Amino acid sequence: MKKLIIAGNWKMNTNAKDTINLINGIKEQINKITLNKNIEIIVCPPFINIEAASNAIENSIIKLGAQNCHYESKGAYTGEISTPMLKYFNCEYCIVGHSERRQYFNEANQFINLKIKALLNDNLKPILCIGETLQERQNKFTFEILKNQLDESLAELKDEQMSNIIIAYEPIWAIGTGVTANAEQIYETHNYLRNYLVQQYPINGKNIIIQYGGSVNEKNAKEIFGIENVNGALVGGASLKVEQFISIINSGNEL
Ligand code: PEP
Repeated sequence: MKKLIIAGNWKMNTNAKDTINLINGIKEQINKITLNKNIEIIVCPPFINIEAASNAIENSIIKLGAQNCHYESKGAYTGEISTPMLKYFNCEYCIVGHSERRQYFNEANQFINLKIKALLNDNLKPILCIGETLQERQNKFTFEILKNQLDESLAELKDEQMSNIIIAYEPIWAIGTGVTANAEQIYETHNYLRNYLVQQYPINGKNIIIQYGGSVNEKNAKEIFGIENVNGALVGGASLKVEQFISIINSGNEL
């Protein structure tokens, strides 16, 4: 049975109270299922709710992730959050390079690379998001774009560090649009990514988790999880509703 890591990216949604309610709801439903050991569940609330989430997930199998971080551990970086601050609240994962951060905050691969190094140095696991625009896909540049994102974001990292990195393939045109990449597109892209990772990292490349992200929901999750080299999902909108998130988890559990 393949390992599946299902992460909820809550984006800029929920306050502390919603956070507690959402996590309690997920916990309650998870307790009703016999969850396979190969399934891992992560929630990534906004920074300000990390403490509330950290308390709420206690004594559960849910793990905590952040949506971003800075690469310095402290200093004059107004408005930023560092990896030691995340660790203090038992955060284990951190999304980096989400397309919304690339698009709205001009985050480039080189900057993302610094964040990944900071996270790994602090024993946090980066969830590196990569993906192409619709135009890039239509012009058949998808693999080239993904290769470049991987090369630059993972620059100077060693094979032994790759067991602590998750790659989230998120076609930008599928994020928050309700349009999912079809099974064939997901298969061929994940297959490309796997081959590339194995070639670059002969020791750990075959085991790197490659999540799919982009309008994953309770209706399409089962098919997506069944595709070769899909090792989980990064879920946005559907992770904000207990029933939908649980249904996605159940789809993985029933594989
Ligand atoms: C995301 O934010 O990473 C995402 C995939 O969002 P959605 O599931 O809403 O498309």
